[in-house]
Amino acid sequence: MLGTLIASGLSSLASMGLFATVAHLREDPIDPFWLAFAGAAPIVMAGPMVAYLLELLRRLARAKLELEELARRDSMTGLLNRRAFFEAAEAAIQRARRSSRPLTLLVLDADHFKSINDSYGHAAGDEALRLIARTLLAATRRSDVVGRIGGEEFAVLLDGAAPDEAALVAERIVSAVRLLDFERGGERVPLSVSAGLAVLEPGLDLDGLFSRADAALYAAKRAGRGRARRAEAEGPSTVRRRA
Ligand code: GH3
Ligand code: MG
Ligand code: MG
Repeated sequence: MLGTLIASGLSSLASMGLFATVAHLREDPIDPFWLAFAGAAPIVMAGPMVAYLLELLRRLARAKLELEELARRDSMTGLLNRRAFFEAAEAAIQRARRSSRPLTLLVLDADHFKSINDSYGHAAGDEALRLIARTLLAATRRSDVVGRIGGEEFAVLLDGAAPDEAALVAERIVSAVRLLDFERGGERVPLSVSAGLAVLEPGLDLDGLFSRADAALYAAKRAGRGRARRAEAEGPSTVRRRA
């Protein structure tokens, strides 16, 4: 504000000086009305100019935020992309440690996805991935961190969920994906995901948490897919069996 006043004061003086110099060079008498006009013009102009510049700055800041948010998203599903998921996960782990809140990682992988692409085409596969992403968002809370961390792989950090609660969420996701209405050529195409769960424990970092969840995921795959398994310190154990 002070800067604006000083700048418009100086512009005003400069404008009056210029007017007086031109009048002197032309050997015209200095008309007090036009001298006052030359002095007032920069001051009158300064307000709208400053308001306009502030508005431009505000728009620029908003566009920057939108671009940053866009860079964090997977363009196909709208979920966090791999890099953003890992950044958010690191932050969530720090918060969970500080507040001693439980934190569970779910790693999910679409089952036999190659055969979906092979049978119905890549566009159908993309559509199926979008449906799975929507199912993940519907089954989780806004405070959870949900990302697409690979082609047909997803991860969810359940913030504040006790292990049993997290196992229920995993079951809910597995069941909801199995119930998804995905049709191609008038035929229902069954979709399924397998999930591995690992609970944050003292001494475990994000890499360690992922290793455990991955091991549980592959146990779920080996056990027949379309199910969730929970990693225990000594190895994965079943949290769900298909009926
Ligand atoms: P598994 O049950 O063992 O996970 O079998 P899978 O077929 O899902 O696993 P695999 O790793 O053999 O194949 C993954 C497939 O996922 C192959 C790849 O083309 C497909 N895929 C990965 N990303 C995308 C994508 O963005 N869109 C589509 N349509 N397909 C994708
Ligand atoms: Mg995979
Ligand atoms: Mg797969």
